[in-house]
Amino acid sequence: MTGHRSLDGAHPSASDIAATVRRAGGAMDVVRRHLARIDAGNAAINALREVYAEAALRRAEAVDAQVARGEDPGPLAGVPVAIKDNIASRLGTTACGSRMLAGYASPFDATVVERMEAAGAIIIGRTNCDEFAMGSSTEHCAFGPVRNPHDHDRVPGGSSGGSAAAVAAGFVPVALGSDTGGSIRQPAALCGVVGLKPSYGRVSRYGLVAFGSSLDQIGPFTRTVADAALVLGVIAGEDPRDSTCAQVPVPDCGAAPADPVRGLRLGVPKAYLRPDNHPDVAGSLMRAIDRFQAHGATIVPVDLDLVDAGIATYYVIAPAEASSNLARFDGIRYGHRATVPAGSPLDDLYAATRSEGFGREVQRRIMLGTYVLSAGYYDAFYRRALRVRRRIREEFDRAFVTCDAIIGPTTPTPAFRLGEKNDPVSMYLCDVYTVNTNIAGICGMSVPMGFAREGSARLPIGLHIQCPAFAEDTLLRVGRAWEALHDPAAPAVAGAEAAR
Ligand code: GLN
Repeated sequence: MTGHRSLDGAHPSASDIAATVRRAGGAMDVVRRHLARIDAGNAAINALREVYAEAALRRAEAVDAQVARGEDPGPLAGVPVAIKDNIASRLGTTACGSRMLAGYASPFDATVVERMEAAGAIIIGRTNCDEFAMGSSTEHCAFGPVRNPHDHDRVPGGSSGGSAAAVAAGFVPVALGSDTGGSIRQPAALCGVVGLKPSYGRVSRYGLVAFGSSLDQIGPFTRTVADAALVLGVIAGEDPRDSTCAQVPVPDCGAAPADPVRGLRLGVPKAYLRPDNHPDVAGSLMRAIDRFQAHGATIVPVDLDLVDAGIATYYVIAPAEASSNLARFDGIRYGHRATVPAGSPLDDLYAATRSEGFGREVQRRIMLGTYVLSAGYYDAFYRRALRVRRRIREEFDRAFVTCDAIIGPTTPTPAFRLGEKNDPVSMYLCDVYTVNTNIAGICGMSVPMGFAREGSARLPIGLHIQCPAFAEDTLLRVGRAWEALHDPAAPAVAGAEAAR
């Protein structure tokens, strides 16, 4: 078994676990070992809100029984998985990091949960996130902030901070998160793991509590690119229960050419080399570019001048969609209901429920979204943002004529301290490199690029790779190529075996 280095030593990858369990069983042991790690470490970082120990052991027993009968439990046999708190499952409660949905027991499983379980995976717990996936630090969570496993005084990023931290801490080899503007890739970068946001429509959103319906995607956190390919292969593909899920064939995500770097055309936009990038982020990127080039990739300058307009565009479109999606949480249909004096008008119940149930950031987004959609402001804000969105898409289309992938830093800086970013705009700017991926509907991935030094802290940073819509095969090829150049201990092309 080839372990992959992670925070506290070597942990087996999902590919390794599945290969072993399919051959020889042992899922119960795998689950017990991961439960023990969670027991020892979760109190300090609060990555998991719920742990499904008993259910996980029962599932593991069933997987082992399948193997004993000579059946194949599937490509994720015995792999412990954690899911973000906005992904519905009948296990435990689906609370979205919010008081509004505390205690909400979903009567159904999300498609991704069904598909993971059908592939032999074992859902072991549920990860904390920013409330309704709004945030970049996982500090805005009704169940307490999550801490970065590399430095407990720092944030893990967000909004899927619990999922990133759970993988970085070795609690699970795989976690699912959601990404509306960066919520998989930014925490992956800050925690030193792999995080993949699939193209819009690649993965079913059925059972994902909606935030920005034209932007949301579910994707995996893993420690290796081969594992991300393995999980994507399981969760991707058409779903009759999500009409936005594309009928595009799923490529063999595990396949990679023998020489993955030679001939690659990698676009580097000037706009990604911002002067406010942390010096170690800028330095690591330059080294990455040099290394790709030394191994036969061609570096192509590309124009993405609208990068800076991305944040403004995103913070019109995402809140607009959120204000509409979150209207259902009104005290009548779902979740929390405030107590108001008997005979109060209905509007008082709505107002009291929503004031109690939603935290400040969610309230801010709802107000922002309502404002940009209201008569008189719709044209000036919402319609204009849609026009800029189209231009951003066109800019990516033009860039991808000359390159196969675009590379840059995932975030301008490494993990910041809890409480450090206390004005909304500085928090929003964490996603300057990631939001455009969602705006354009293309795919993106963050892979570990090295570390930044801040005082005595050694903090992970990520390489961001973006590819055209439905070009996840190229995305994974570039990711795996980088992994092989960057970390000789990582499984490179050979890791593809397990994915088939
Ligand atoms: N940080 C961004 C926001 O707060 C993105 C969140 C996400 O991708 N879910 O909206």
